[in-house]
Order: sequence, then structure tokens, then C-alpha cells
Amino acid sequence: MILQPSGDIEQQWQRVRALLHDEIGATAYGTWLKPLRLAECDGDRVVISVPTQFMRDWVVSNYADRIRGIWNQVNPAIRSIALNVKAQDGGAARGQRVVEPSGEPRDPARSDGVTPLVRRDDPPVATSRRDPVAPETVRPLDELSASLDPRFTFEAFVVGKPNEFAVAAAERIAESTTLPFNPLFLYGGVGLGKTHLMHAIGWRAKQLDPQRRVIYLSAEKFMYQFVRALRTKGTMEFKELFRSVDLLMVDDVQFISGKDSTQEEFFHTFNALVDRGRSIVISADRSPSDLAGLEERIRSRLGQGLVADIHPTTFELRLGILDAKAEQLGAEVRRDVIEFLADRITSNVRELEGALNRIVHQASLTSRPVTIEMAQEVLRDLLRSHERRVTIEEIQRMVVEHYAIRMSDMSSSRRARAVARPRQVAMYLAKQLTPRSLPEIGKKFGGRDHTTVMHAIRQIEKLSAEDRVLADDLAQLKRRLQN
Ligand code: ADP
Ligand code: MG
Repeated sequence: MILQPSGDIEQQWQRVRALLHDEIGATAYGTWLKPLRLAECDGDRVVISVPTQFMRDWVVSNYADRIRGIWNQVNPAIRSIALNVKAQDGGAARGQRVVEPSGEPRDPARSDGVTPLVRRDDPPVATSRRDPVAPETVRPLDELSASLDPRFTFEAFVVGKPNEFAVAAAERIAESTTLPFNPLFLYGGVGLGKTHLMHAIGWRAKQLDPQRRVIYLSAEKFMYQFVRALRTKGTMEFKELFRSVDLLMVDDVQFISGKDSTQEEFFHTFNALVDRGRSIVISADRSPSDLAGLEERIRSRLGQGLVADIHPTTFELRLGILDAKAEQLGAEVRRDVIEFLADRITSNVRELEGALNRIVHQASLTSRPVTIEMAQEVLRDLLRSHERRVTIEEIQRMVVEHYAIRMSDMSSSRRARAVARPRQVAMYLAKQLTPRSLPEIGKKFGGRDHTTVMHAIRQIEKLSAEDRVLADDLAQLKRRLQN
């Protein structure tokens, strides 16, 4: 017997929605789950309708388990959830193309147009993306394109001041069907997220429209393909293939400079795509105007769309990235260790990530908790290469300036808190930032004993764990000393 959703079920549905909203966050909820409607309830089975086939596929791949799990908590009698495609409010969701499934119906056993989603005893639905496009139509492009790394999504990208503009531009080009600008030229130093953002654009574009033909490849691979095509006389095919693309992304174009025929081909492909209103995303480690070895007309053409640069990371962004990565690793890393890493590894995100991986890995191997000492030990080589030689005198000068005291206070025997605390801070920093021993440090502070230095270090360690202001002072001083 099929029932129209009764008050009870409807209430459960509202509860499930609220829980899903909390769990996956407002953005994803708004995009994917808000448009779902409760269609019917048949004993232990609930049917939910979705406005488009594309959305159905996405929801099945990504949220099915959670919907069933949550519903099962709310009402243990519900054992399976199914999704069907049903246009709502007189049509498909605006801005999204409806993609009909190709080939065989997904579940030939059923004739009611409803695809069973998850049954209790089903294996969990894979979270990989299912592409409803017929394989024959995508194969050649797939061969050309490097595959997209599933870790490189917008969701996994931490946004901060240094990259927010680039991210906004990237999201824009991934999501809009009309061209807001063309090309998007992303540039920035090594390891700051250019490749990650390009993959994210690819994923998002395919998510919104699985039939969009997306190619992502490195400039090197582009050249290789082209040279190979020349050899096998397949250049016409090569051209046609590239020119049938909806979104072309070429990574690290600084490598194209200098190779004349490839440049030429790249340029023609580029122009052909722009003329056809297709989107292009380019990345490089420098701005278009700094791309030496590239012909002037190509350079200026590349810079004609939107140029977005990714700036070096800030301390805050590094903290955010470390938090996110630690969570992904399922590791609990102490605050002071996170801050230590964010403070010391400033070069790029790749190194930062690598450092975190190393210490988390080490901690799990040795079943020891992650501490600053352990991080220092495990990352010795990396940290050394980052260290700028700082002298005790520099530290003293910086501390004196920071606390507005006198240089003589560093070596005096005055014990007033207003000078004693900064003196301890300076000793602590001397231990942290220089290779000097405790007696050597003591000598520079008016000939103090090494136990006094030891005490100062302990004191500052203890206090800074509780005192936010002191912790900030330390972080700031360190940063200034090391830059
Ligand atoms: P690039 O291509 O600019 O050299 P990548 O995109 O390869 O840099 O980034 C290097 C690593 O750092 C990747 O693992 C990437 O996921 C990570 N990464 C860079 N920026 C961020 C960010 N803002 N949030 C999360 N991860 C990031
Ligand atoms: Mg890269």
C-alpha cells in the first residue's frame, strides 16, 4: 500500500532535513539537499524526489548513506530510501541542464521509474562521482586530460586573505555558463594552490553539468601531445579534439615559453576556444607580463581576461590550513604544535602539509603524542633550512622595543615584573631561535646562571599556555625576528 506522506512522516522529514543541514553545512545543503521533496512513504521505504537526473546521481553518490542513516535514527522503522527524478515547480532547477541517463536504465528490474537508493544490507554507496555521460563520447578527451585529484576540491581549499580573490574567480568560472571573463589567469609561487584550484574548477564544472567537456593538463603534457601529433600526422585530429572542449585548463604555462611551434599551436587553440565562447583557465608561476620567452601577442592575449594572483600565505591562513589537514588526517594535534608549524614553515603549503604528515605519522608509529619537541626532532632538517640565523642581541633589541624598556634592563638585576618578564621572554626566544646553550645565553643576560635561564624558559612556556596576550607577543616577536 502506498501512502501519501502523513503528518508523522512529514515531521520526520523535517527533522532529517534539519539534521542534514547541521551536518553538512548551509552551502552544500542549499545546493544539494534543499531541493529534495518527500514524495511518498511505503511501509519501511521512503521515496524522495529530486528535480534533475544530475542531482539525483550526485545525491546518491554523496549523501545517500547519510540520509538513510539519519532517517534511521529518527525512525528505526525506515529501512530504505529511494530517489526519483521529478521536475518541481514546473521545471528543472534553473541553471542546471537536465541530463537523462544514457543507455540501460540503472535498474532494469524496476519499471516505476524509481531507483532504489540504499537498502540496509547494501554495501555503502561509493562516494566517487558517477558520470552519466556515455563513455564513448568522453574517452578521447579523457585520454588527453590528466585525471582530477579527488582531494583537490573547493571544499578542501582553505580560503584566506592571500587567496580569496583567486578562489572567488575560480568558483565563478566553474559555475557560470555565460563567460564572466576569459581566460582566467591564475598565478602565484610554488605550492600555493594553483593546481588545487584548477582541479577544483574541473570538479565543480562537471558537478554542475556532467556533459561539460573539461580538459585539464599541464603545459608540458600539452606540448608532448602536440609533438606526438606532429609525428603521427594527427595534427588535424589534435586540433579538433582541443577545439571541441568546453573548458580547457593548462597548468604551468611558464614551461611553454621558448618552444615556437607549440606556442603557435597553443595560441591558435586558445584563440579558437575564446572565439567559440569556451572557458579557459591558465596557471603560471608568474604574471603574464613576466612570462619571458612568450611572444608578445600571446602574452597580451593571456592577460586580457581576469588575472588573479595567489599571494604567499599568512600566519592565519597557515593555521587554518593545518587545522583542516589535521582534521582530514583524523589526528588530534595540540594547539601549540599547530602554531609552531604555522610559525616556522612559511615557504608554501606543500611543505606545511608535508611537515604535518610527517609528525602525525611519526606519532602514530611511536604511539607518542605530538609535542613541539617531537616536531622539532622529526623536522630537524626542514626547520633548519627555514631558520634564519638570529642573534641574541637582535632578540634583545626586538624585545626591548616591543615592551618599551631599556637595553640595560636585559642585563640588570632588577626584578620588577615590568622588566623581569620581558627579560624572560628574551631568554626564551634565545633558546628557541638560536643554537646557543643555556650558559651562553646566561652570559649575555648579565652573566646569569644557566639554572636561571632554565627557569625563565619554563616560566614562559607555562605562562604562554594560559596567557593569550603573552602567546601573541611571542608569536609576533618570532615572526618579526625570522623575517
Ligand atoms: P601549486 O600548483 O601552486 O604549486 P598545489 O596546488 O599543488 O600548488 O598545492 C600544493 C599542496 O598544497 C596541495 O596538496 C594543495 O592541496 C595544498 N594547498 C595549497 N593551498 C591550499 C589551501 N589554501 N587550502 C588547502 N590546501 C592547500
Ligand atoms: Mg601546480
